[in-house]
Amino acid sequence: MRREWTGAKRLVVKIGSSLLVDAASGALKADWLSALADDIAGLRAEGREIIVVSSGAIALGRNALKLPKGALKLEDSQAAASVGQIGLAHAYEEAFRARSLVAAQVLLTLGDTEERRRYLNARNTMTTLLRLGAVPVVNENDTVATSEIRYGDNDRLAARVASMMSADCLVLLSDVDGFYTAPPDSREDARRIEEVTDITPEIEKMAGDVGSDLSRGGMVTKIEAARIAVSGGTHMVIASGRVMHPLRALTTKGTGTWFLARQDPVAARKRWIAGTLEPKGAFTVDQGAATALASGKSLLPAGVTKVDGSFERGDAVLIRNGDGVEIGRGLTAYDHEEAKAIIGRKSGEIAEILGYLGRPELIHRDDMVLQRKM
Ligand code: GLU
Repeated sequence: MRREWTGAKRLVVKIGSSLLVDAASGALKADWLSALADDIAGLRAEGREIIVVSSGAIALGRNALKLPKGALKLEDSQAAASVGQIGLAHAYEEAFRARSLVAAQVLLTLGDTEERRRYLNARNTMTTLLRLGAVPVVNENDTVATSEIRYGDNDRLAARVASMMSADCLVLLSDVDGFYTAPPDSREDARRIEEVTDITPEIEKMAGDVGSDLSRGGMVTKIEAARIAVSGGTHMVIASGRVMHPLRALTTKGTGTWFLARQDPVAARKRWIAGTLEPKGAFTVDQGAATALASGKSLLPAGVTKVDGSFERGDAVLIRNGDGVEIGRGLTAYDHEEAKAIIGRKSGEIAEILGYLGRPELIHRDDMVLQRKM
């Protein structure tokens, strides 16, 4: 048993197309999905939060549209995805409902995890779904994503989702049971690596060597996914989905290749906010707000006396006390014009002032890092 798995409170599980859809007939493997749903229900019963990232839309849809075998043109794969996604969502909904779980469909495009303004929206919605006990089932919104603006593979999408959601563990379920030193089918000396603590050039080279690195979902994208996950503080495991109850197997056997993160997701996110992002402006706060922040509260418009700079929603801004000293940083939920309009006012008045119902906080405490204790 691995602590990275048993101790993980929030999990992202990525399901590859080949596990869910029979390549020859194009039919959904309902028995496998049922077994997976049992595993997910078991984890939910332990109080864990699960986000599923599922492929399979294109594989399901191409069959319904009688598209030829082999690589599809972009527009054909988009058409296939828009047909197949309905069936995919339906299958999850049915399998989950039979176990009293609520499935929630979330379709993302690249900008939703990469642009900070939209990132806050996607994160908020998924956090709300988890709080309400639902199981988000995420896929790329293939229908509108063209090649320049798509993730292109669900390994990386799952890793972006995991770091956006500060997940503790990301499980990549596919038809391989781990990361090998060489292609396991053709090389007898190939050996599965148990644990990777550093993604070295040597590991990258092995990924290039293993099997079909050009194909989507090959080892190259899995290593890129690992890099994204661990830098966001999420442990990642590549494990086999070619068994019934693959998540239960992780609990009982734990077989796979583990990529270990050095810090936890909250620390990684705080480091990102504090260190990586360039601040675009500043909020000056009154003493009451400074004290509230120090005790772990969010920053409300009422406690802000001044707005400097020009920034968009989701940008990093400084938080200063009345003496102009920086006391923290965070991601703002409002742009500078909106912020100027609502500072000094009660959160309940935001809707009336701005003409729409926004969030009560200017900076939510999860999006904030305090630099000094006061
Ligand atoms: N979004 C694609 C689908 O649902 C899958 C991409 C992938 O498998 O990496 O069919």
